[in-house]
Amino acid sequence: MQVFRRGDRGPAVAEIRAKLERLGRLGPVSPAPFADTDPHNQTNPTDLLFDDVTDRAIRGFQQERGLRVDGVVGPETYRALDEAHWRVGDRLLSYAVSRPFIGDDVATLQQRLLDMGFDPGRCDGIFGQATEAALKEFQRNVGLRPDGALGPGTLRALEQLRRTVKGGSPSERREEERLQRGVGALAGRVVVLDPGHGGDDPGATGHGLVEADIVLDLAARIEGRLGALGVTTYLTRSADTAPDDQGRARFANEMAAEIFVSLHLDEVSSPHASGSACFFYGASLPDREVRSAVGERLADLVSREVASRTDLVDGRTHPKSWELLRLTRMPAIRLEAGYLTSPGDAARLATPEFRDALAEAVVAGIQRLYLPDHLDIPTGQFRLAALST
Ligand SMILES: [Zn+2]
Repeated sequence: MQVFRRGDRGPAVAEIRAKLERLGRLGPVSPAPFADTDPHNQTNPTDLLFDDVTDRAIRGFQQERGLRVDGVVGPETYRALDEAHWRVGDRLLSYAVSRPFIGDDVATLQQRLLDMGFDPGRCDGIFGQATEAALKEFQRNVGLRPDGALGPGTLRALEQLRRTVKGGSPSERREEERLQRGVGALAGRVVVLDPGHGGDDPGATGHGLVEADIVLDLAARIEGRLGALGVTTYLTRSADTAPDDQGRARFANEMAAEIFVSLHLDEVSSPHASGSACFFYGASLPDREVRSAVGERLADLVSREVASRTDLVDGRTHPKSWELLRLTRMPAIRLEAGYLTSPGDAARLATPEFRDALAEAVVAGIQRLYLPDHLDIPTGQFRLAALST
């Protein structure tokens, strides 16, 4: 391609100026420094001139992009100008083997995936295999078909969940507001609740209480509250069935659940062990750590709510690579809500009021996952009644 520099003029210069303008690097066009005598260019002659302002804009651009700063628009600078103007959502991104998508929209996508704990490879703005794999992983995490393409549905999920994980700018905030209609954010969503054990498997026992029964009761209390918020809830089992972990995960995947909450209680030989803990998917692979960022966020919210609404000892959150958390394709947590072998925990769990408080804590955590930061409710203060107004 031809090379352009200060003093040049013509349609190619106009194109370069237009690109700079779209990037916000050229202010309002200044009046022509001299009268243009070409009759074809009477409308806006400065647009066609590679003037001092254009030269400064190009040098600034080259500096920022790590290009040679010479004010000359050759193939490299021209390509960079072209890549820079793409914004996420401008085009359907996917892995094209022979001619990969390159641009700032790809770099933004890579950065967002990285922020949420996925591994798209280097943030180089090139949509390669690693980016495709990370995008598929993200899609599986949010219960979308993992096709590895950034279309409207995936983009929406990306925008929605990004802010629950990381901060954003005011304009993104407004976008978020449009996407998430405040308290309506939960309506229409699908949640799968997984009361542990069941059937012939009682789970933990102690002080006259049986884990399988209590977590089923707890699931029913959560289900009722979610129903009031317009959420469709499915349970992985009834009173007399006990699917294995793979079956429970498969069920949640088939139901296209957006959230998966497994409910358990603990038992140990020592009566002194007590308290709750929340687990999310995370594993140490030979070359890297993987963790479900959204799962971690949900675990954190639920665990905080439990700590604030009950006087259980706060055992906090922990990454685990358990089958149940690994095979579920949506953000999944497992809540261990106390020890039946602890006299204190068992006495609490025996009362319906306490199980109500636990149920409210789980619902508040799920609700808060979908609330943008500025609409978020401080821990412990979310009330169902407040949502009906
Ligand atoms: Zn259990």
